[in-house]
Amino acid sequence: MTYGMIATWRMAYDGVASMTEALKNGEGAGTALVEAIKKVEDYPFYKSVGYGGFPNEECILEMDAAYMDGDTFDIGAVAGIQDVKNPIAVAEALSHERFNSFLVGAGATKFAKQAGFDCRNMVTARAKRLWELRLEEIQKHNLSPYDGHDTVGAVALDLNKKMVAGTSSSGLFMKKSGRVGDSPLSGSGFYVDSEIGGATATGLGEDLMKGCLSYEIVRLMGTGMHPQAAADQVVYGFSDLLEKRKGKAGAFSLVCMNKNGEWGVATNVEFSFAVATEKEAAEIYLAYPAENKTTRIEVADKAWLDAYEARIKKPVD
Ligand code: ASP
Repeated sequence: MTYGMIATWRMAYDGVASMTEALKNGEGAGTALVEAIKKVEDYPFYKSVGYGGFPNEECILEMDAAYMDGDTFDIGAVAGIQDVKNPIAVAEALSHERFNSFLVGAGATKFAKQAGFDCRNMVTARAKRLWELRLEEIQKHNLSPYDGHDTVGAVALDLNKKMVAGTSSSGLFMKKSGRVGDSPLSGSGFYVDSEIGGATATGLGEDLMKGCLSYEIVRLMGTGMHPQAAADQVVYGFSDLLEKRKGKAGAFSLVCMNKNGEWGVATNVEFSFAVATEKEAAEIYLAYPAENKTTRIEVADKAWLDAYEARIKKPVD
């Protein structure tokens, strides 16, 4: 019997650390994952998820989230939901619905309100100011507006061998109203099968969804491949394929864990993630693409962590 959780970005660390303790004490994977992601959604300085997240081009915060149960394959998802404190909780609730389990836009928001989920204004003064500054910068330097995004995606395994996966994201900064990324899309942003393992993604959704990368990693793990080998093969294979066919590949990173609590990560950019298992205490790592389609992984040192903290809290004027 084992347990564990892996999740994208440094922002997931607190939830991974506290919820793996809960998993150790018998908490279910579903509750642990939802609580871990809620922590990220609630923290205003994580600017790409939940409260304080990146607004769209009209300065409206439209959020995407999904939840998948690896025992039953039940999926719940929302896209473009507004004014809801915890989109992941709404996605989890929708996963219990036989019909209407993926809701978008006004319909998703209406469902959350009617079901009694905590609703509030989710655009912070800081996010609004960052939006204004970014707009000025784009106009002044004639930049592409689409720079800035990160999703919290997690996979959890509990003592009963249940696995779940979930995501939450404000998507692409300055996105068009109605734009949806990979995060709420099964197979692209996440996938999990308790008899194999799970995977989840972060990065440019428009490219991630071209390869159904989360599903691909789970499929390879299902052939007996170690999670690290599966992640390397899928991420570098698809990044190279996009380069070949389209001339470029967006940034993307995936994490995965199998039913034994073994994990893997692969990325085509510098990428931080958090993981904890029965065998390994919660830790923040950095991953980099390395030679011959492999991934270099190292523990994030104090200098990196301090710089990160300073960056996310940097005053805006
Ligand atoms: N995958 C997200 C999206 O495209 C953003 C990210 O994870 O960086 O919406």
